[in-house]
Amino acid sequence: MSGEHSYQPVTQEIAGQLQSIVGGKNIIFNDVERMQDYSHDEVADPAYAHMPEVVVKPQSAQEISQIMKLANKYRIPVTPRGGGTGLSCGAVPVLGGIVLSLDRMNRILEIDKENMMVVVEPGVVTREINIAVQEHGLFYAGYPMSFESCFIGGNVAENAGGGRAIKYGVTGHYVLGLEVVLPSGEIVEMGGKRLKDVTGYDIIHLMVGSEGTLGIFSKIILRLLPLPTATAVLLIPFENATAAVAAFPKVIARVGILPSAVEFMDSLSVETVYKFLGETPPRPDIGAMLLVEVDGTSREKVDGDCQKIGEQFLESGALDVYIGNTPTIERKMWNPRLKLAEAFKAICPVQSLEDIVVPTARIPDLIRELERLSQKYDVLIPCYGHAGDGNLHATPVMKPESPLDIWKEKLPSLLTELYQVVYRLGGTISGEHGIGSKRASYLPLVMNPDLISLEERIKQAFDPLNILNPGKIFPLRRNRYK
Ligand SMILES: Cc1cc2nc3c(=O)[nH]c(=O)nc-3n(C[C@H](O)[C@H](O)[C@H](O)COP(=O)(O)OP(=O)(O)OC[C@H]3O[C@@H](n4cnc5c(N)ncnc54)[C@H](O)[C@@H]3O)c2cc1C
Repeated sequence: MSGEHSYQPVTQEIAGQLQSIVGGKNIIFNDVERMQDYSHDEVADPAYAHMPEVVVKPQSAQEISQIMKLANKYRIPVTPRGGGTGLSCGAVPVLGGIVLSLDRMNRILEIDKENMMVVVEPGVVTREINIAVQEHGLFYAGYPMSFESCFIGGNVAENAGGGRAIKYGVTGHYVLGLEVVLPSGEIVEMGGKRLKDVTGYDIIHLMVGSEGTLGIFSKIILRLLPLPTATAVLLIPFENATAAVAAFPKVIARVGILPSAVEFMDSLSVETVYKFLGETPPRPDIGAMLLVEVDGTSREKVDGDCQKIGEQFLESGALDVYIGNTPTIERKMWNPRLKLAEAFKAICPVQSLEDIVVPTARIPDLIRELERLSQKYDVLIPCYGHAGDGNLHATPVMKPESPLDIWKEKLPSLLTELYQVVYRLGGTISGEHGIGSKRASYLPLVMNPDLISLEERIKQAFDPLNILNPGKIFPLRRNRYK
């Protein structure tokens, strides 16, 4: 039951019909052990998991279409699933029914060098796109940091961002065309190999970020860029977070060079991750740290840019500047940032990975508020992430000595207060991970009720029976259309 919509269970007979669409090997039914993998994404808390009734693995838009028609006929919820790396439970079948896994639709259909575009199926692992296009001197720039395991279809559904969004933007900037199976089962094409297109509504950008609630992508046309061939990394310690955040925009304005990434770590993050790695931080007095990456097509130019950026950071209050321009040193400099989530999991796996975003100039205010909330609720709240675009993974972590039931009791109030703070600072609750079911009940804290109602009516126009990925984005009580 979802609101006033009741769904039917997946019976043996319906499973038989699904099997005749996708073939016997491509369905999992009555097999709890194998279905377990499809009951969760990368959100660690098992309370968010939910078992599907059946998993199907179609291989074409036509097969997806037949599944959707069948789901409408019997009123069965369908949850699309990509790589399952999501961090908002978007691919979790919260109301049971069918999980529609896209992992068999994993072909790169065309590398169009002349138009600098690539046509892919949704189940291609994002990293594979760059492996395939780099030999042509091309590059897909919209990828998130999970690029080794997420699928491009999941990236489009979440409008994934990542470390390099400051220079290259997010997934949606690169989506030029989509083939979409609508909830009704109709197959439609949107956009195409065109860099400009204002014919009708900009429906592609309604589909991008729709979290699998408006349609299932079966083919994607992506724009490519020339491949940057040189990179360098600057590791820049500061006395405190305010100094780090204030320095960054000044430096960029003065040197006129846009870095490809600017990552931030507060003092708790720096201290914890170096301890976890068994390494000593570059200085003992680090109150915050920036990692700045510069890329380009010439080694000389990138090294020159790094010199200029480094000098300006020193003039703007940095304690020091360390530059690395070989793959080994760059990897070593990135390592603390990449190991942060693991380091805090080692302290305590009970945590709530957040994805808030604020205007970059408000990051110091946010950090002060995080310190206040950390004391009030007696939890750790490290703050790290993509400082270049204000998208920070402020993550409440349970203190290992605290009882679990107290944590569970206080987490909703802590999250409510955190989201209210973020909203007050001009930000919102998700910059790249999406709302899914994890944050759905908090949406009214940051979104006007009239806007929520408009978005619900858009969902209703696409999916009158609320078959496709119900229980996502909108608070459950709001899934009532009639
Ligand atoms: C270690 C780690 C690092 C991460 N780093 C980043 C980061 O830098 N930036 C970032 O944005 N995210 C990041 N994420 C989150 C996650 O990887 C992204 O949200 C990613 O886009 C999810 O892709 P997926 O294929 O795993 O999708 P899934 O988790 O399988 O699904 C996500 C959503 O997409 C929908 N969906 C999937 N395929 C389709 C399709 N073909 N058609 C329609 N809907 C579909 C699902 O229904 C669901 O709502 C990270 C996650 C991890 C674990």
